[in-house]
Amino acid sequence: MKTVGIIGGMSWESTSTYYRRLNQLINERLGGLHSAEILLASVDFAPIEEMQSRGDWEAAGRALKAKAQQLEKAGADCIVIATNTMHKVAPEIEAAISIPLIHIVDALANHLKKNEIERAGLLGTRFTMQQPFYKERLEQQGIRVLIPKEDDSKTVDSIIFKELCHGQFTDDARKQYLKVIDDLSAKGAQGVILGCTEIGLLVQQEHSALPLFDTTEVHCQALVEWMLN
Ligand code: GLU
Repeated sequence: MKTVGIIGGMSWESTSTYYRRLNQLINERLGGLHSAEILLASVDFAPIEEMQSRGDWEAAGRALKAKAQQLEKAGADCIVIATNTMHKVAPEIEAAISIPLIHIVDALANHLKKNEIERAGLLGTRFTMQQPFYKERLEQQGIRVLIPKEDDSKTVDSIIFKELCHGQFTDDARKQYLKVIDDLSAKGAQGVILGCTEIGLLVQQEHSALPLFDTTEVHCQALVEWMLN
């Protein structure tokens, strides 16, 4: 089995999901006492979030690049960024390492294509929903992306940073997300991407009739395939 090097902590709530799901999925495949070979570099999220907010992606890229290099040195066979938003600096990280980076958007695009989804709604941080780095990579792979209207985008983003990253998962927040999901469905989305690694902790498939694509789960499944091949 290959070893994954995870850059996590953004937030640690979802990194713990990566840790649990990778171990569960490896165990489902190999049985017995098998578990996943993982190296984890978990950052302090506060300074990273400040860099995001002030648009200093260069500093954020430098910080994550250093973590990727530490993981490579420690023996990781690939690098995983356990957040959608920080894939904004994936090119800088890739340029600094000689092992592959398993990109969350590529795992997602493959999964959507397998499910014959051509038009998907996207929920995530304001950076993920509004900046081109995420949408364009999906569009290049034939997926049309619909984002919520302005005030809904604000609500989705604010709940991520004020609640989900603090481990708060309330019925009220879930209701607000489900309303935005309904709206995207009415606009023609065939499914909705939970494009922030914490959203799957709040909203699950059982809450919606529309297909939901949880990027944490999709990423973990792609990683396990890679680890075992
Ligand atoms: N975990 C989140 C994501 O998947 C948000 C935290 C961050 O801004 O990195 O985008």
